[in-house]
Amino acid sequence: MVSRIIPVDPFDLVVFGGTGDLARRKIIPALFRRYCAGQMRTGSHLIGVARSALETASYRQLVAEAIREFSGGRACEDGTLERFLEFVEYIQLDAQGEQGWPALGELLQGDRTRAFYMSVGPSLFGDIAGRIRVNGLVNDATRIVVEKPFGHDLESARALNATLAEHFGEAQIYRIDHYLGKETVQNLMAVRFGNVLFEPLWNSQYVDHIQITVAETVGIGGRGAYYDSAGAMRDMMQNHLMQLLCLIAMEPPARFEPDAVRDEKLKVIRALDPVEPHHIVRGQFAAEGDTPGYRDEVGAPRSTTESYVALKAHVSNWRWSGTPFYLRTGKRLVARSSVINVVFKDAPHSIFGAEAGQHSNILSIRLQPNEGITMHVTIKEPGPGGMRLIDVPLDMSFAEALGPDGQDPPDAYERLIMDVIRGNQTLFMRGDEVEAAWAWTDPIIAGWQARGEVPKPYDAFGKGPEDADHLMRRDKRDWRGIKP
Ligand code: NAD
Repeated sequence: MVSRIIPVDPFDLVVFGGTGDLARRKIIPALFRRYCAGQMRTGSHLIGVARSALETASYRQLVAEAIREFSGGRACEDGTLERFLEFVEYIQLDAQGEQGWPALGELLQGDRTRAFYMSVGPSLFGDIAGRIRVNGLVNDATRIVVEKPFGHDLESARALNATLAEHFGEAQIYRIDHYLGKETVQNLMAVRFGNVLFEPLWNSQYVDHIQITVAETVGIGGRGAYYDSAGAMRDMMQNHLMQLLCLIAMEPPARFEPDAVRDEKLKVIRALDPVEPHHIVRGQFAAEGDTPGYRDEVGAPRSTTESYVALKAHVSNWRWSGTPFYLRTGKRLVARSSVINVVFKDAPHSIFGAEAGQHSNILSIRLQPNEGITMHVTIKEPGPGGMRLIDVPLDMSFAEALGPDGQDPPDAYERLIMDVIRGNQTLFMRGDEVEAAWAWTDPIIAGWQARGEVPKPYDAFGKGPEDADHLMRRDKRDWRGIKP
């Protein structure tokens, strides 16, 4: 099935931190793929901004290398890369200095959309926002894109929101959580709200519990200093897993419009109960063969930062009262796998008897790898052996079923950057959502600190700390396996 491409009007995308890791791995390749697909039109500009003294030609070379390395080999016509590079410009400036801004202004064109992407540390957001304003770079179609981490706690998130609000309205601010740009996440909303099948069952009467797992095999990499001050709770749970929980738990919005959707997500966060200390498990991965343990990797021998967290959350409202949400995320686990499992209750009465076997219906929503949705249903085992029941997957793998010409679905950044250009904030976090998420997270972290809790060690490339299994078993439930 070939997806429909609606080109966007020519625009200027300014990437502060245009030489950085995120720009090279995600932003630049995403834009190039949209160009290949015909969505980004000739005449648009990608303007890289960073402190390095680079000529435009050298920056174009950096862009070309990033595309070759990270654009996933998507088929493009010959000569496309060369044509794309003609739209690429570079400005050297220090976000905290005054030089370079007028030159940046000269590159921006008229009234068309101009998006300023802050692919730099949050400490620079205020400097950049202020200088964009002071240097007269704002037009009526100006948008500001900010990356995670959006604050370290409620207080710093409020301060960041206030800093941005000094210079821009909320309708101009796009806070990225790239999980929301994933095709499956949007499909989750399509499945829930576009079919009559699921919504009547989407409540505590029929759903036993929900599991959200975001597992990574990688360790901390070059992000040690940042990660050790954040941990899994701040780095993953407060944003990505909370956002997924919101989309699963929210009421149907009246319309698929930015504030209608975000209002419903906010209500979910506000309905979350505080998490009981015995409903949370923290872990830190141990060394395995040549693979260093967490503390060696971040170079902090006494670190008590968690690289794994699992918890049981309750959404206190009519729909979800009595249905727990189990969330877990960790590094150095057995497989890279992000999946949401909606586990339905058993049939109220088995007419086939205990020996036939009993299986719960499970809706599995896989975010990565192999994006797709699988419904596990119970059927009769084929053959003459009597009435024995088995669990079979009704599988919808989007890459196979829906990818254009069998290609991978678009990367989240492709979708999100185009949404910024189109001015659609639906898949971006609003300031009050982020603050509400921190208001729920802060007491959890404060509790660990007050109790002097140390994370439990867990085997690298395993399934996480044993205590996370107990968290489930106490409730007579089990985690689904972490499978690639
Ligand atoms: P990086 O260190 O690789 O790059 C930082 C970029 O900012 C460089 O281009 C550098 O020249 C530029 N820069 C730094 N100080 C500057 C200044 N004073 N003036 C102008 N430019 C300046 O960092 P990164 O990994 O690309 O991350 C950028 C931001 O995105 C960070 O806030 C990070 O937390 C966030 N983020 C990164 C990733 C990722 O995968 N790398 C993922 C999510 C969020």
